[in-house]
Amino acid sequence: MTLKLHNTLTGTKEAFEPIEPGQVGMYTCGPTVWNFAHIGNLRAFMFYDLLRRQLQASGYRITHVMNLTDIDDRILDQAMHAGTTIAEYVKPFVAAFFEDMSAMRAQPAEFYPRATDHIPEMVAMISTLLERGFAYVADGDVYFRIESFPRYGALSHLDRSGLRAGQRVATDKYDKESVSDFALWKNAQPGDEKLGAAWDAPFGRGRPGWHIECSAMSKRYLGDTFDIHCGGIDLMFPHHENEIAQSEAANGKPLARAWLHSEHLAEATGEKMSKSAGAFTTLRDLMAAGHDPLAVRFFLIANAHYRQRIRLSAEALHASAEQVRRLRDFAERVRTPSRDLAAVMPDDDALIGRVRQVRAAYRAALDDDLNLPQAVGVVFELIREANAALDEMKVGAPGRAALLGLLEEVDGHLDVMGGEEPGLADEVERLIAEREAARAAKDFARADRIREDLRERGIALEDSRDGVRWRRVPPA
Ligand SMILES: [Zn+2]
Repeated sequence: MTLKLHNTLTGTKEAFEPIEPGQVGMYTCGPTVWNFAHIGNLRAFMFYDLLRRQLQASGYRITHVMNLTDIDDRILDQAMHAGTTIAEYVKPFVAAFFEDMSAMRAQPAEFYPRATDHIPEMVAMISTLLERGFAYVADGDVYFRIESFPRYGALSHLDRSGLRAGQRVATDKYDKESVSDFALWKNAQPGDEKLGAAWDAPFGRGRPGWHIECSAMSKRYLGDTFDIHCGGIDLMFPHHENEIAQSEAANGKPLARAWLHSEHLAEATGEKMSKSAGAFTTLRDLMAAGHDPLAVRFFLIANAHYRQRIRLSAEALHASAEQVRRLRDFAERVRTPSRDLAAVMPDDDALIGRVRQVRAAYRAALDDDLNLPQAVGVVFELIREANAALDEMKVGAPGRAALLGLLEEVDGHLDVMGGEEPGLADEVERLIAEREAARAAKDFARADRIREDLRERGIALEDSRDGVRWRRVPPA
């Protein structure tokens, strides 16, 4: 079987084939860290995780880049109101993003580049666009000239005629040549210096527009052309169109071969769900309301196909929690044969044949544009049959082994059945004890090294009154 993915660019499902055999370069638009991620953002992030896991299951090595937008108008606004710099303002939201990802068991990306760490790359790309006539300076701002890029709109299959002249009256930005031209660079405003939001550039001191960061950072980490670009459907226009225009105009090469978009998530209206931020629901809100983050994960990836709209409701989350519970209970039952008496009439050959069939159907569904809901449906059918067989004491050791093999494969995507990484807690405790011993022996270099090694693995140690505690943090 080959993996087929729906490419927004062509509007069809295509057999996936990377540029370099065995290796996938993937760029996914990440969070704007002006606040906690809302559940709609998290749907896109969990979709990235599902894609990543399926690529791994298909045998690919992955270079996954997910940007953190740590400068935009909302961040400037909030930092100004808080009387701080943008760098200080975003800190807790960056930490919260990694906490959310880890609570929902998203596999970490290889790179999490931040916009403000890549200003030189953006300045270089804007300079190229200016030199080649794809951009112009107006009143200290730099704009991309959409007229200069005839392919504009190809991704969203947009009718460009509506973008042309005659629309200027609709905007008060008369300094732009055309209303649809978008900002690459914004002239520094008086307050920007105090916020730490102004940088030097040959075309004037200022700050980047939003779109240029993804073009500059994908080029830096993945090259001019890479395999897959992902985002939520809301980013397709204008953000992704603008990325394509900037990158392809500057590099003279296609940006990404396949573009994948996950659909909207609507929030049920009138639903009682506590909302800290008012306008939207965060993972924290859901956890405060008693929802298991892994049930949320299951709801986001397994309840509906990623290209279907979904609606968040407490009812839907409870149904997902119930499915997670059934999976865990079944895994537990299969793992502990002592719970059921030994098979009296083993019918393992039939069961093993059935598991093989289900495994093939499971893989085929995932290969078909990541149809996890269908794949999971097939597994639940088998669980019903296997539970009946277990009740009748027809499952022997070989049958259990076959079932466990399947569950392991399923949990490679779902990741809701296992507990903490096996052995992790024991190992961390052992290292903490070693570090205590080193400190007692005044070998502080060794003690520090243990702390740093753990930090690199995403474990932070905290000395507290009750001894040393550890918690998960974004890997250093
Ligand atoms: Zn982007």
